[in-house]
Amino acid sequence: MYGSKASFSVCLAFATALATVAFAQMPPQEPGSKSFKLGSFDIVALHDAQFVRPNDNKIFGVGRSPEDVADVLKAAGAPADTITLSVDALLVKQPKRLILIDTGVGGALLQSLAQAGFKPEDVTDVLITHSHPDHMGGLVKDGKLAFPKATIRMSSPEWTFAKKNDQLADVVKAIDGHVKTFEPGAQVITGITSVGLKGHTPGHVGYEMASGKEKLFDIGDTVHSSIISLARPDWPLGFDSDAAVGEETRIETLKKLAGSKELIFAPHFPFPGVGHIQSDGDHFKWVPAS
Ligand SMILES: [Zn+2]
Repeated sequence: MYGSKASFSVCLAFATALATVAFAQMPPQEPGSKSFKLGSFDIVALHDAQFVRPNDNKIFGVGRSPEDVADVLKAAGAPADTITLSVDALLVKQPKRLILIDTGVGGALLQSLAQAGFKPEDVTDVLITHSHPDHMGGLVKDGKLAFPKATIRMSSPEWTFAKKNDQLADVVKAIDGHVKTFEPGAQVITGITSVGLKGHTPGHVGYEMASGKEKLFDIGDTVHSSIISLARPDWPLGFDSDAAVGEETRIETLKKLAGSKELIFAPHFPFPGVGHIQSDGDHFKWVPAS
């Protein structure tokens, strides 16, 4: 489904100064929205951007060779010289709230939101998994709050971390005064509970939502590539603040999800990023929801 989309190469060094440059140079992205029901909640996966990274061992397969990574990609039938990541967000409509989980990098998210039938001022709450620019960058548009009526919620350690990040200074300045923090593990909104997922950033969380008997877990950046993160969850990831803890969390979380067979949303898996983790020998594979 991405055949028609403009794909492009950009350094996805999200935690660095390059991020700002990459955003400014980002070509137009195509919107996309996919709606489904979760108990009484209406959920919409929203597409923001598509990144194609070179297979250069800087982020995936750190300490390995491009050939090692190419073998994993080829085994999955994917091109061996690039790694494609989607950037997506999740919208949750409850009777009295419209909740956006993550805001993308400032690509096509607002167009995707419009495609789903909503305006930015309809959003009552923005929940942030972590403070990398591909999750927080869409909070601000032209120096102003992109979701002017929303309370921005993130974990307390993550907000502390964001305020120390010079690259986020403009975003932090714009959202300061609109942020409410919580401790990882706390219920953030009725039906949505945060889950601490250590290693990627100091206060990285996922969000578990439940309505009636149905559940969906937004696992944030516990995984990135639907191929490499699942085939080789033990490989250190260049994006993680603490690679060893990130690896531990990734393997532990994938084992749990393969056991529980619960529905998950992964913001960087192929759009809409909704599906299940399955055990596959000593590793895992992605099963998109039908
Ligand atoms: Zn990310």
